[in-house]
Amino acid sequence: MQHKIKKVDVHLVSTPITGGFADATRKVEMIGYTVVRITTDQGLEGIGVTYHEVGGEATRELINRNMAPMLIGRDPLESEGIFNEFFHYLRGVGRKGLMYCALSAIDIALWDLKGKIVDLPLYRLLGGSRTKVPVYSSGGWTSYSDDELVAEMQSMVARGFSKIKFKVGVEGGTNPRRDVQRVQKVREAVGPNIDLLLDANNCWDAATAVQVANRVREFDIYLFEEPVFADDIPGLAKFKRGTDIPLGTGEHEYSKFGVRDLVMAEAVDILQVDGARVGGYTELLKAAAIAQAWNIKFAPHAMENIHLQLVAAVPNGLFLERLLMFEDITGMLFRNAPVPIDGFMHIPDLPGLGLELDMDFIKDNDETGRAE
Ligand SMILES: [Mg+2]
Repeated sequence: MQHKIKKVDVHLVSTPITGGFADATRKVEMIGYTVVRITTDQGLEGIGVTYHEVGGEATRELINRNMAPMLIGRDPLESEGIFNEFFHYLRGVGRKGLMYCALSAIDIALWDLKGKIVDLPLYRLLGGSRTKVPVYSSGGWTSYSDDELVAEMQSMVARGFSKIKFKVGVEGGTNPRRDVQRVQKVREAVGPNIDLLLDANNCWDAATAVQVANRVREFDIYLFEEPVFADDIPGLAKFKRGTDIPLGTGEHEYSKFGVRDLVMAEAVDILQVDGARVGGYTELLKAAAIAQAWNIKFAPHAMENIHLQLVAAVPNGLFLERLLMFEDITGMLFRNAPVPIDGFMHIPDLPGLGLELDMDFIKDNDETGRAE
């Protein structure tokens, strides 16, 4: 039975972030989801999301005004063709950024629909057999005191996580000596058997980043993330030549072309593209394949509920990231989002993404139509 897309709904929900959280290069004041629901003439609904700290209204408008009308009447199985049409339709205004966020949300909804049309969880449709995936806990803002940082890291371990990530680059990256002290305190607090991941959020030049990496090396660091500006691809490559701590990057990269550039420059060990930005499942699959061809691990940034099925399916899928900051709003957005158990996320035995939106929460909090 052929399905045709009949309706596209877009919702915007957000929540203020209180507490003055900051990493090395920015403060976080709010987070939000743009939610896309694509309904077929047979009554099936696919859901996709992207998220934002700023600019959600623009993403919503782009989908509503320019993209949704192009989907009406289309066969949702034609995701490659739809992706390429949008790419060329919108290429002059954004081959990165908010346009790709909008495209990502639509593409994720199309893939959710595909799974529902064939009545299979996505990992099965993609050829996977794993039903659970390791997940690490992620937080540890630079705005925390040392005691707050250590307490949060200990609470992650107490919740069953064996891999934990925190921010470095305190005082805007101007005081690496303090970063080294903080890494030492966390290592001493959690003991030798926990994998520590560090995230510098773009704050240093390559020379400083290498110096910091070499100073924290004795504390057994599993991964060093975004040590330099994400677009400083030569700097990332220089970082890799200066330390043996594996380099994670990619959360600010868009499209398979961005992935190609990172890989070709030997500027990544663990690829961290984010499906809600990089171009949905269509582009995630290509990113994972490019990484596999260079024997690079694939560990997408955040959005663990969206990435779960894909990381389970691809051979180089390493683990998922669960940001503490998103736990509340994600728990409200979905009725059945899987909760990590002993550091693993288990795939729900449901078709598509296996996620059910909480429409009561969305209706009560949808910013669409409100005075802004
Ligand atoms: Mg990061």
